[in-house]
Amino acid sequence: MSRRKLVVGNWKMNGSLAANAALLDALRALPGAAPCDVAVCAPFPYLAQLQTRLAGSTIAWGAQDCSAHASGAFTGEVSAAMIAEFGCRYVIVGHSERRTLHAESDQLVADKAKAALAAGLTPIVCVGETLAQREADETAAVVKRQLSAVIHTLAHCTAQIVVAYEPVWAIGTGRTASPEQAQEVHALLRRQLQAATATAAAMTILYGGSVKADNAATLFSQADIDGGLIGGASLVAADFAAIARAAA
Ligand code: PEP
Repeated sequence: MSRRKLVVGNWKMNGSLAANAALLDALRALPGAAPCDVAVCAPFPYLAQLQTRLAGSTIAWGAQDCSAHASGAFTGEVSAAMIAEFGCRYVIVGHSERRTLHAESDQLVADKAKAALAAGLTPIVCVGETLAQREADETAAVVKRQLSAVIHTLAHCTAQIVVAYEPVWAIGTGRTASPEQAQEVHALLRRQLQAATATAAAMTILYGGSVKADNAATLFSQADIDGGLIGGASLVAADFAAIARAAA
């Protein structure tokens, strides 16, 4: 089945109003920069800027996290409905930096995905194993456990999410999973989705982890890799555009 590719930039905690303006204007101006679906996910304070600068463009935008709660006494948290008010289409949930640095559990990530869907957002649910887990031959068990919490929580709505396979050892390290290693896990995730939803063949599964302009095309040519979640390289317009072109 042919699925339209999606390339999503994750700016992480980078940017400033001035730097973002330059980056967004460069992305908008690049000819042929969006031969696939393209989105950028920015820190919360910049969502209004994305809405203004990307309005009328083919580039969608989103946030990097949301609360599992709808409202209330949760100081410092941002609800999915608040994010949706800024025209966002996507929200990343369960990024490994949040799972590791903020001790987010599989169930919390699943609850965040549910809150995102309730607000009309598409959650990009990240799963992935650490190096120690890969070396212990636990990759399949780890990603299955992470995705299973989401499937169990979302039930028939699982079909509405985007999944991102991001091996933790490949994020920001310059070390990329080989196309074969990534495909193996993507196929496994799709089989798991197939057991849960009839439309799994149409679902988008992104690869993330040191994707660059020179390795994107071979990764994206794998049968079950439907694009990428791009960290570092999404901060440079030409690099991000080259990755999007590799997805065409
Ligand atoms: C990420 O932040 O999700 C990511 C994949 O980062 P990088 O591309 O820098 O490895």
